Amino acid sequence: MGLIVQKYGGTSVGSIDRIKKVADRIIRTRAQGSDLVVVVSAMSGETDRLIRLAHEVTPYPDEREMDMLISTGERVTIALLAMALHERGVYARSLTGRQIGILTDDVHTNARIKAVTAERIKAALAEGVIPVVAGFQGVNEKSDVTTLGRGGSDTTAVALASALSADLCDIFTDVDGVYTADPNIVPSARKLSRISYEAMLEMASLGAKVLNARSVEFAMKYQVPVRVRSSFNDSEGTLVTKEDPEMEQEVVSGVAYDKNQAKVTLVGVPDRPGVASKIFGAIAKENISVDVIIQNVGQGALTDISFTVPRGDARRAKEVLSKLAEEMGVADILLMENITKVSIVGVGMRSHSGVAARMFASLASEGINIMMISTSEIKISCVIDSKYTELAVRTLHDAFQVAKVGLLPPAKGKGKTRRSNAPN
Ligand code: ADP
Ligand code: ASP
Ligand code: MG
Repeated sequence: MGLIVQKYGGTSVGSIDRIKKVADRIIRTRAQGSDLVVVVSAMSGETDRLIRLAHEVTPYPDEREMDMLISTGERVTIALLAMALHERGVYARSLTGRQIGILTDDVHTNARIKAVTAERIKAALAEGVIPVVAGFQGVNEKSDVTTLGRGGSDTTAVALASALSADLCDIFTDVDGVYTADPNIVPSARKLSRISYEAMLEMASLGAKVLNARSVEFAMKYQVPVRVRSSFNDSEGTLVTKEDPEMEQEVVSGVAYDKNQAKVTLVGVPDRPGVASKIFGAIAKENISVDVIIQNVGQGALTDISFTVPRGDARRAKEVLSKLAEEMGVADILLMENITKVSIVGVGMRSHSGVAARMFASLASEGINIMMISTSEIKISCVIDSKYTELAVRTLHDAFQVAKVGLLPPAKGKGKTRRSNAPN
């Protein structure tokens, strides 16, 4: 095959021994006749360790400095892997995000890629040198280092595959591919041989961290073929590609969970026009993304509003709102950090009724309380107490028989007609 971008995640480069194994795999792939660009993550646990260090210094680290800190993990891996390749007699060159021209916006710790020049990669390839690129990082217009959000090395790999018109982007990780649920908590989860960009994007956005959601967005937009594979064996993995009629159209094709969430509740908010816009405007200004929102029915002139944000942003969200809350006379701001969003995903949901009821009944049968609900055309999510995460994911995976193919018959009399935007 012509040009392949290979990305190795944290566990795959988690020790010197593993880095050496990665070097061996790179050499094997090249021997099969492909040109290669390699993207790597920080060694497993390293990014978390760096974040913990920052929090030992201050509860609210400056985000520019945070990027300066957490972008170092990937620099360690590129240098070590390049050395391992040299040791094996192969020309390789480590390159940072800045050196390969990854230009991003200004949103430190969660930047978006705006342009990729990849000049030095092209030059290395022309010289027969393997470029070993630091994932997860870029620079903004001021040349300050930025990072692409957790799991962002996937995005670097897909962006490079697109910029270089690579034939394939191989994401090497610690599982054999994309499964119907996290195989580490659902032993009966089934590996998918193919999955559409759309379904993968939904799974990734809902927390299936096997691929970073933005990387899938990028792959879908630029039609980059992505394959998720194990770095520990040679099994085929999962191809993420365009939807085609032969792809599975199950009502529920996957179950995902996201523990990285926190719930903020504003108690006693004045129930009048403009209030929600003030609250969420203040949050948006801080670049904090809000997910599920619930506004209760007002009692008299007051109401409660709850919403979820990424857990790492929760305290900042509370801070941002506390001044506003005082001005508006809000009674209290509550923070709940031990929550999980569990979701079921499936394109077949568009044409079936009773899916939500079945989801709620399954959770109820295990005594799991639902705090918030949100739906879209092809997914239903429930926010629950984190301590029930594993139980909820397994229960839903069993209830919808996701491990088996095509078991749910169409609901009686509903046929294939779509009746509303949201599943019910
Ligand atoms: P890497 O360090 O290689 O980027 P990640 O930890 O980011 O690896 O992603 C791989 C992990 O994703 C797996 O170990 C698995 O626990 C988790 N995962 C969650 N959902 C799924 C899924 N549906 N299919 C496969 N893996 C999943
Ligand atoms: N090292 C970064 C992280 O842990 C990026 C990545 O691994 O993709 O999130
Ligand atoms: Mg990852």
